[in-house]
Amino acid sequence: IPLSHIRNFSIVAHIDHGKSTLADRLIQSTHTVADRDMKEQMLDSMDIERERGITIKAQTVRINYTADNGEDYVLNLIDTPGHVDFAYEVSRSMRAVEGSLLVVDSTQGVEAQTLANVYHALDADHEIVPVLNKIDLPASECDRVAEQIEDVIGIDASQAIRVSAKTGVGIKETLEAIVHRLPAPKGTLDAPLKAMLVDSWYDSYLGVIVLVRIIDGQLRKNERIRFMQNGSVHHVDRIGVFRPAMTEIDVLGPGEIGFLTASIKQVRDTRVGDTVTHEKKGTDKALPGFKPAQPVVFCGLFPVDAAEFEDLRDSIEKLALNDASFSYEMETSAALGFGFRCGFLGLLHLEVIRDRIEREYDIDLITTAPSVIYDIHMKDGSVTQLHNPADMPDLTFVDHLEEPRIKATILVPDEYLGDVLKLCQDRRGIQMDLTYAGSRAMVVYDLPLNEVVFDFYDRLKSVTKGYASFDYQMIGYRTDALVKMSILVNDEPVDALSTMVHRDRAETRGRAMVEKLKDLIPRHMFKIPIQAAIGGKVIARETLSAMRKDVTAKCYGGDASRKKKLLEKQKAGKKKMRQFGSVNIPQEAFISALKMD
Ligand code: GDP
Ligand code: MG
Repeated sequence: IPLSHIRNFSIVAHIDHGKSTLADRLIQSTHTVADRDMKEQMLDSMDIERERGITIKAQTVRINYTADNGEDYVLNLIDTPGHVDFAYEVSRSMRAVEGSLLVVDSTQGVEAQTLANVYHALDADHEIVPVLNKIDLPASECDRVAEQIEDVIGIDASQAIRVSAKTGVGIKETLEAIVHRLPAPKGTLDAPLKAMLVDSWYDSYLGVIVLVRIIDGQLRKNERIRFMQNGSVHHVDRIGVFRPAMTEIDVLGPGEIGFLTASIKQVRDTRVGDTVTHEKKGTDKALPGFKPAQPVVFCGLFPVDAAEFEDLRDSIEKLALNDASFSYEMETSAALGFGFRCGFLGLLHLEVIRDRIEREYDIDLITTAPSVIYDIHMKDGSVTQLHNPADMPDLTFVDHLEEPRIKATILVPDEYLGDVLKLCQDRRGIQMDLTYAGSRAMVVYDLPLNEVVFDFYDRLKSVTKGYASFDYQMIGYRTDALVKMSILVNDEPVDALSTMVHRDRAETRGRAMVEKLKDLIPRHMFKIPIQAAIGGKVIARETLSAMRKDVTAKCYGGDASRKKKLLEKQKAGKKKMRQFGSVNIPQEAFISALKMD
């Protein structure tokens, strides 16, 4: 295919603005998929993605389109994830294409993820075609939203295409705009092979499937290729394209996007951003390296039923095969037994993995409090990373702690601005910027990630009735007065409930936690003290009173000595229970106790 007849593009949008629906219409109207095989959300393949309406892995589809000028074009669409946790995946797949459709819901306007994603596209030097979607709805306000795109993003929106991805209005215009307004890719056919590794995932039949964008040269089946980062050499079993079903073809040339398989066993062996070339006569210039995505949120996953530990290990290993950004290691907890400490890109990533383990592998899980990574600067000058508050070293050896901070961008209608500012302030935020775009305010805050990972997003949605949108990026580490707060239930520390908190807030937080736990833990036959402590010092305390079962009630007055004997027996029983510290802490307590409202 001549380069002049290829167009590579992505669609960027805030969640729910219609990216998947628009992709469906583009696929359908070009007869890429036979009508009888067409289903909704063609590109969102995993069940969870479908249910939650989010795309996690970058998906791609090749569309053949005969334009109004009579020429045949090949359009490659890469569908990128639409959530903050996967910002890294967005930015890397953007580098594989030359242009973007910027989809904005014309009943809503620009949102925080519209901004975040369009900045990724601008970083990758994309040509951008604005698309105003949902014009079939009465609340659609195309002129206002076009103006907002110009004001807030600073790109020309006078030629924005007005579309209803639902009814199909404007789809033809969108296809013509892709051909005429987006640039063709550049590349050299007779240069050594240079391909960008865009994404990879595990398939149980084919092994690892590698998505590549050919920059220069050609790739054929049965050739020997080399991954330049680790020098590993592989024999190519097949190459092909997605329509969106995998279709084998003979050759991939410059500007094309397709897949290869080469009997590769682990996703970890295929580093995203790597350069693929031929084993012999390959290029010696690798593409500028990408840094791999690093987990930022850690939590413990334990089976509710200890007998399911091996099943849990199995499921985690399988999921990790397909997700190089998810990390895990074994962990033991006094309260919860054997489990795993896992690292995630963010809370959504955590939820997705947890859901998959529960659903696809049918294992009930206890999830411990999510934590970020702290840098501990020791008095001897060394620095260690703390992934789990339970591992906090003795304070006498610690000089200071540093915590990760983020730059959060929040877009919110005027009337909720006050609540948002208060929320950010409560979470130790430092205001960096406040501007207006029409009736919406855009606030930028510097916030500790630790205050955000837990329930910030939920709180933000609830104080703004769902009208705020949010996006963030990491901006580095900073010192603050952080301490480890332990929770003691029945005088025993419950390591899974340990958290890092700011010293000034420890007491309030501690009190809130013990009060919550008092409601969450069912009454036992004995009374249970619930305490929050820093070091050896108790800062908050509640007592869960015993369930009083009066065993003498059955004795109808009767013999006094028998009554006495029974009461003594009851007391001994209580003592035994206390001694073993056998308190039942329900699963939901581990998460609910930490929610701050
Ligand atoms: P995504 O999160 O950006 O992929 O958004 P989806 O494509 O999943 O769309 C979100 C919701 O908006 C779905 O319920 C769609 O049916 C609906 N939707 C998408 N496009 C249109 C449109 O043009 N008109 C109307 N009325 N609804 C639409
Ligand atoms: Mg979608």
